[in-house]
Amino acid sequence: MEKVVIVTGASRGIGREIAKQLAKSKMRIIANYNQSEQEAKELKKELEKEGIQIDIIKADITKRKEVQKLIQFTIEKYKKIDVLINNAGISEYKIFTEETDEDWNKIINTNLYSAFIMSQEVLPNMIHQKQGCIINISSIWGITGASLEVLYSISKAGMNGMTKALAKELGPSNIRVNAIAPGIIETKMNNKFSKEELEQIKEEIPLERIGKTQDIAKCVKWLIEDNYTTGQIISVNGGWAI
Ligand code: NAP
Repeated sequence: MEKVVIVTGASRGIGREIAKQLAKSKMRIIANYNQSEQEAKELKKELEKEGIQIDIIKADITKRKEVQKLIQFTIEKYKKIDVLINNAGISEYKIFTEETDEDWNKIINTNLYSAFIMSQEVLPNMIHQKQGCIINISSIWGITGASLEVLYSISKAGMNGMTKALAKELGPSNIRVNAIAPGIIETKMNNKFSKEELEQIKEEIPLERIGKTQDIAKCVKWLIEDNYTTGQIISVNGGWAI
């Protein structure tokens, strides 16, 4: 049977492109969304026109009960999970001294706690199969840190630590854990930047362009096909940080 892949936050941006590309590569995709139901339905429709079936499942991945339902659906329907892509995430642009406990909880829960519970809930099946692949969508800021995005940087640095530690723990079970650290990618997440600001950023990038969601999806596909890479944080950033 084809590989069964769960992609969190697949209604928009990077997650949507990952779901699309993997579905076109004959993998069975369970595309998770939370608020953007319309976009998720459109993705399903778009793929159906090409004769490709995917499942779209609503779940707030910061809530363990909803995560459990998502995993239960997958196991009942497909009996296995081969790949988990922890993609869903949010960012915030704020001065550190103005950050609140609510901000901390929202960002850390969405970007990091979700990866913790998603990974915990898929692992019994992966360990039983003695194979699996977890890919965490991290960020350049988890490596270098970003001014005005301290909480976001903390969440992604945590994700990088989790990637390395879990890779060591799960290697003997033949489960690979890697992260991709994108630079700046054209999605709604960067709506906060003006055209001029984006031009300025472009000038700092050796490859002289803003990344596309396809750049990340290609790397995800490669990581799934590979079988000797684990514990790595792979920078896909046009050379923005070297
Ligand atoms: P985006 O366009 O804003 O999409 C974010 C996705 O996350 C949406 O599908 C959203 O789903 C989902 N999501 C948010 N909270 C959720 C929750 N509680 N439960 C389930 N899904 C939730 O962002 P993006 O740019 O594609 O970012 C995707 C990932 O790449 C993030 O982890 C981000 O940190 C990382 N990243 C992005 C960039 C960039 O420049 N764009 C750079 C580095 C890293 P709903 O709308 O359905 O709720």
